[in-house]
Amino acid sequence: MRKNIVAGNWKMNKTLQEGLALATELNDVLASATPNCEVVVGTPFIHLASVASAVDTSKIHVAAQNCADKVSGAYTGEVSAAMVKSTGAEYVILGHSERRAYYGETYEILKEKVQLALANNLKPIFCIGELKEEREANKQNEVVKAQLEGSVFNLSAEEFGKIVLAYEPVWAIGTGLTATPAQAQEIHAYIRSLVAEKYGKEVAENTTILYGGSCNPGNAKELFANPDVDGGLIGGASLKAADFKAIIDAF
Ligand code: PEP
Repeated sequence: MRKNIVAGNWKMNKTLQEGLALATELNDVLASATPNCEVVVGTPFIHLASVASAVDTSKIHVAAQNCADKVSGAYTGEVSAAMVKSTGAEYVILGHSERRAYYGETYEILKEKVQLALANNLKPIFCIGELKEEREANKQNEVVKAQLEGSVFNLSAEEFGKIVLAYEPVWAIGTGLTATPAQAQEIHAYIRSLVAEKYGKEVAENTTILYGGSCNPGNAKELFANPDVDGGLIGGASLKAADFKAIIDAF
């Protein structure tokens, strides 16, 4: 059975103190709740260890937003998958469209990052999704197919079984525009069919596919009601504990 997940992506927001306050608040609101999904918070690197020790990690799982494409050594400013793992983090968001667009992360670089994350027992949340022009040209299916083939379809079925996919149409990220529930379902079903073609029906049925892009307390329920939408990757709305909790409650 695949897992439902609501994962927050704080991006480059919150000082250490602010981040700890947000994580503690979320921990408090979830203390008496029994969410019907796994809850993940994706924090900046500097918050990882503190957040992992401040929250109940059986309820709030911690994610990094990136890791290096190298094992270790003379790569000033980089943070390796092993370092991320040593903080208590369990997940790592990889392939976010902002990393692809602003930091030149190619299919090959992401392939290395995914491999290193898995080798260090981190679960990648691998993001895919098309640009506005690509959607307008009806190229979304070929874009997500190429992104999967370029960075994760080299994995064995066992390795692939450890990753979570996040479909994030770039035109919906931080814009207030959201894919309609029908658009999300259509492409999630297509992504699942690609996984089935490559790894078989069982692996495909067990793959968690999240939707990301202006998901908020007002639209989460409708999006998550689709059979192939297994939760969300949440940017802006993960920065307020009440909004994030309301999205968790959409399950
Ligand atoms: C994201 O950055 O992954 C995201 C989905 O952002 P937002 O929810 O703000 O659109």
